[in-house]
Amino acid sequence: MDVHTDKSSSATLRILLVEDSATLRYAMSGYIRDAGHDPVVAPSGEAALQMIEHTPFDMIIMDVEMPGLNGFETTRLMREWLGEHWVPIIFVTGKSDDQSVEEGIEAGGDDYLTKPVSPIILKAKIRAMQRIVDMRNQLRDMNDQLEALSQRDSLTHLYNRRTFNELAEQQWGLAKRQQRPLSIIMLDIDHFKLFNDTYGHPAGDECLKKVATAILTALRRPTDILARYGGEEFIALLPNTDLEGATLVSENICRTIFELQLPHRTSTTAPVVTASVGTASCIPANRSSLSKLIQQADNSLYRAKMQGRNRVIREETNQDKTLLIAHSNPRQLDNISTLLQQQCNIVTSESIDECLELAENLQPELLLVDFNLSETGGGLKVCKQLQQLPSQKTHTLLVMCDAPFSKELETQALQAGANKLVVFPDTRQEALEYIQPYLL
Ligand code: GH3
Ligand code: MG
Ligand code: MG
Ligand code: MG
Repeated sequence: MDVHTDKSSSATLRILLVEDSATLRYAMSGYIRDAGHDPVVAPSGEAALQMIEHTPFDMIIMDVEMPGLNGFETTRLMREWLGEHWVPIIFVTGKSDDQSVEEGIEAGGDDYLTKPVSPIILKAKIRAMQRIVDMRNQLRDMNDQLEALSQRDSLTHLYNRRTFNELAEQQWGLAKRQQRPLSIIMLDIDHFKLFNDTYGHPAGDECLKKVATAILTALRRPTDILARYGGEEFIALLPNTDLEGATLVSENICRTIFELQLPHRTSTTAPVVTASVGTASCIPANRSSLSKLIQQADNSLYRAKMQGRNRVIREETNQDKTLLIAHSNPRQLDNISTLLQQQCNIVTSESIDECLELAENLQPELLLVDFNLSETGGGLKVCKQLQQLPSQKTHTLLVMCDAPFSKELETQALQAGANKLVVFPDTRQEALEYIQPYLL
C-alpha cells in the first residue's frame, strides 16, 4: 500500500444529499454532479437514516430545517449508527446565527453552508472536506503499514520471529487436529561473521536479503511460512509435509543459495556463500510440542555444521536407544534431560540404587552419571558396581563433574570403569557433543 498515492481527491464521491425541498434537491444534485461527483438524494432525515444502513457514502450534505427529524437530530442519529466510521457531514441552512452554527457542530456536523448555496462554494467545500478525508485515510493506511512492518523483519521483509511463532502455533494446532505431518527447516549462513569481516556489514546485509529471496523461491507452496529467526538464521514451517518432502525442499534451498554464487573468499567451506540446513518433522501428538520440533531441527542444523557445513541434515532420533541420566539434584536432572530429550529415549534417576536397578533392567546404551550421585564419589560407585553385573551388554558410561576436574580425578574415574569424565554440560551443544558419538 502506497500512502503517497492520492486515491480519492480526484475520485468521484458518492454524496448523500438530504433535502426536503424538491427544487433545492434538483438544483444541488446538479451542482454536485457538475463538481464531478455522484449525488444520491433523500427527501427527509428518516429516509436518509434508512439509506445509510444499506449504502456507504463518502460525504453527506444535510439540510437543517426539515419536517420530521431535522438535520441536527438526523446527524446525531447517524453518528450513533456510524460509530467509528467517520463520514463528513456538511449542513446547509438558512440560519447562520452563531447559536445555530454551534448547535450544528455539536450535533456532529463538520462544516456549514448558508442558503442560497452557490455552486462554486459548494464545490470548494466538498474539496476541502475531501482533503480531510484523504488525510484520515492516509493516517489509517500508515497505521496499517506500521502494523504490517512490526510483523516483518525490516531488512528482508520476511516475517520476524514473533510473527513466525504466532503463525506456527496456528499451523501446529491445525496439523494436530487433522493429524497431518508438519516440518520445520532451520537454516544458518556459513561463516557469516567472516563474510562481514571481509566485505563489511552493508555487504552482509545485502547478502542476507539475497539469501532470503533465494529461500523464498525454493519454497514452493504458498502455505509455507518463512521467517528471519535471528541474525543470519532463517526458519521455515511446511504444513502438510513429511520428513522426505522437507528434506527435498531443504536440499533445494541449500542448492539455490549455493547457486547464487555470492563470492565469499574467506570461507573455508566454499569460495561462495553457503548455508547449513537442519530439518525435522512430525505429526503433532499430545506429548510433542512445536518448540520440541524446532529444537530437533536446530539439533540437525548443529550437526550439519559439525559435519562440514553447506549441507542438509535431517533429524536423527534414536528412540530405539536409551540414555540413563543420574543426578541427585532434580533441577539439574531436568535441565540435562530437556537438552537431550529429542535425541533418544531418556530415563532419569536420582540415586545410586535406583540408577543401578534401572541400568540392570533397561540395559541403556549410554549412561550419564553425576560424579557425586547420592554421595561424594557416588558416580564411581555406580561404575564399579555396573561392572559386576553379569548380564550387562556393552554400554558407554560418562561421569559428569560440576566443575573442571584434575588429571587424578579423571584417572580415578577411568579406573572405576567410566569411559570418560566430562564437565556437566550447560548448553545443548555441549550435551550433544558428549552423547552423539555414542548414539549414531
Ligand atoms: P557458522 O558457519 O558456524 O554459522 O559461522 P558464523 O560466522 O556464521 O556464525 P556466528 O554465529 O559466529 O556469526 C554470525 C554472524 O552474523 C555474527 C554477525 O556479525 C552476523 N550478523 C548477524 N545479524 C546480521 C545482520 O543483520 N547483518 C549483518 N551484516 N550481519 C549480521
Ligand atoms: Mg428544508
Ligand atoms: Mg548463527
Ligand atoms: Mg552462521
